[in-house]
Amino acid sequence: MIPTWQRTCTMDISDKCTLECPTCLRQGYRKRGEVIPGGDLTPERFEKLIHYFKGFSFCGQISDPIFNPHLAELLKMCKDNHKSISVHTAASHRKKEWWNEVFDANTNARWMFGIDGLPYESFLHRKNQDGEHLFNMMLLAKSKGIKVTWQYIVFSYNEDHIEEATELALKHDLVLRIMASARWNDTRKRRDPMRPKNKKWWIVRPWESREGKDD
Ligand code: SF4
Repeated sequence: MIPTWQRTCTMDISDKCTLECPTCLRQGYRKRGEVIPGGDLTPERFEKLIHYFKGFSFCGQISDPIFNPHLAELLKMCKDNHKSISVHTAASHRKKEWWNEVFDANTNARWMFGIDGLPYESFLHRKNQDGEHLFNMMLLAKSKGIKVTWQYIVFSYNEDHIEEATELALKHDLVLRIMASARWNDTRKRRDPMRPKNKKWWIVRPWESREGKDD
């Protein structure tokens, strides 16, 4: 078993997000009229955890880490304590000055940008996202020597744009991660117009799929 001090801790460090991705847990809370749980991780609380792990991943399940007002400080704490850190974001509602500040806080941090499709079309899944602005912020990080990854989940609207995205990634020397999705195991999504036509982009989990057993 890996001892705790050698592990990476994944954390949801906020309770806020400006996007409305349809399958996000946030939508369930919203439909039920419930308050989104959690809150902003403070530097004081992070100080209690930071020494117990090898590294951290700020990867929200119901929030986006860019809305934690202490993000720059949290990143700096990781740098000062020689902890690895990755930040996963898809929300785009921050100005360039803000991105500059958080990138500069820790240039060793790795950043993953969820832009599903070519930047102009990613809002079709990532509701409210300004994919072009976020793409430019990814390039800004790259210009500072930060390791960045462009994460691209395949949907019907973008499955034929992978070649173009690959060319764009090559042009800017970006790591492009094309991702299939398991969401199509849900039979309620069988006729979802967002489902890619090519089955190669469906992660099939027979123990989850009820395909053929109901209609
Ligand atoms: S960006 Fe993440 S937290 Fe925000 S709505 Fe989409 S899935 Fe949910």
